[in-house]
Amino acid sequence: MYDLVIIGGGPAALAAAVYAARQKVSFVVIAENIGGQTAISADIENYLGFPATNGSELSSFFEKHISKYGIDVKEGEKAIGIVKSGRNFVVKTAAAKYETRTVLIASGKKPRKLNVPGEDRLYRKGVTYCATCDAPLFAGKDVAVIGGGNSAMDAALLAAKYSGKVYIININPGLIGDAIMIGSIRKSKKITVFNSSRTAEILGEKSVSGVKFNQGSSEKDVSVQGVFVEIGYIPSVDFDRLTEKNKWNEIAIHTENFTTNLTSVPGIFAAGDVTDVPEKQIIVAAGEGVKAVLSVFKYLGSEAKGY
Ligand SMILES: Cc1cc2nc3c(=O)[nH]c(=O)nc-3n(C[C@H](O)[C@H](O)[C@H](O)COP(=O)(O)OP(=O)(O)OC[C@H]3O[C@@H](n4cnc5c(N)ncnc54)[C@H](O)[C@@H]3O)c2cc1C
Repeated sequence: MYDLVIIGGGPAALAAAVYAARQKVSFVVIAENIGGQTAISADIENYLGFPATNGSELSSFFEKHISKYGIDVKEGEKAIGIVKSGRNFVVKTAAAKYETRTVLIASGKKPRKLNVPGEDRLYRKGVTYCATCDAPLFAGKDVAVIGGGNSAMDAALLAAKYSGKVYIININPGLIGDAIMIGSIRKSKKITVFNSSRTAEILGEKSVSGVKFNQGSSEKDVSVQGVFVEIGYIPSVDFDRLTEKNKWNEIAIHTENFTTNLTSVPGIFAAGDVTDVPEKQIIVAAGEGVKAVLSVFKYLGSEAKGY
C-alpha cells in the first residue's frame, strides 16, 4: 500500500515527486514518458532560472533532479484505470496494480486527432503530431500542416526551413493567432494556405503520398510525403472515470478547490494541464504539482488522525 501514486511524467508530476521524496512518503510515479509536452517544446525562454533553453534540455534537467532522490519511476507504464477500494484506490496499468491512499493525476494533454481515414494507418509513416520533433525528417520533401492556429503556423514555419513545399490546410476562413506569425506565413514563398478546407483523408499505401480535402463544394488534394497534425491538445483522462470534468473534459479543481487541487473525489488530487487551471505553462504546471502534493500531505496527516 502506497501513500501516493503520481500519474504523469511532465513538470506537474515531477515537481510533486521531488517534494514527495523529500517528505519521505511512500510513493511511486507512473509515467508514460519523462518530460511530457515540455520534452517536445522547441525554444523555452520563460521558465525561471533558464533564460534560454529548449524542451529536451529542460526535461533532462528534470530527469537529473528526480534521479538525485532515487524516485521509483515506472517509466513507459501507462495508467489504464483507477478503482476505488474502500477509502483507498487501485491504479491499474497493463503491467501491475498499485494500491494507494491517494492519487495525484498529472497526466497533462495529448494531441487532438483528426479522425480521418489514413491517419492511424500512416502514423509514423509520414503522419506526425510533433513538428518540433520530426520536421528535420522531411528535409527536401513536400508536407502538409493541418490546422490554422499558432501551433500550426509554428509547425509550417519550422517545416519551411527543411521541406520543399508546405501546404497549410485550415478548416477556418483565416489563420487565427499572432499577427507576427501570420505575417511570416504570408511572406514565405514556400507556404501555401488553403482556408475553409476540411481534411477528408490522408492518402498513401506504405507511407503518406497526399492529403485529400474539401474546400467548399470542391474536392482537392495535394501531393505530400509528410503530414503534421496541429489542431490542438486534449486532456489525457481516458483512465479516469471517477472525477468530475468541465466541458473541455479537464479535471475540475478550479471552482471550489483551487487552493487544494482536490478533485470531486476525496483522496484524488490533480495538477497541471489536465485540470481546469486556465494557464497552461511549464512553470504553472510545476507550481500546481507542488500545491497538489502539499495538499496530499495534509490529507494523509488528517487521515492518519482518523478524520
Ligand atoms: C509545442 C509546445 C510548446 C510549448 N512551449 C512552452 C513554452 O515555451 N513555455 C511554457 O511555459 N509552456 C510551453 N508549453 C506548454 C507546456 O509544455 C505545458 O503547459 C506543460 O508541459 C504541462 O505540464 P503537465 O505536467 O501538466 O503535463 P504534460 O507536459 O502534458 O505531461 C503529462 C505527462 O503525463 C504522462 N501521461 C499521460 N497519460 C498517462 C497515463 N495514462 N499514464 C501514465 N502517464 C501518462 C505523459 O506521458 C506525460 O509525461 C508548450 C507546449 C507545447 C505542446
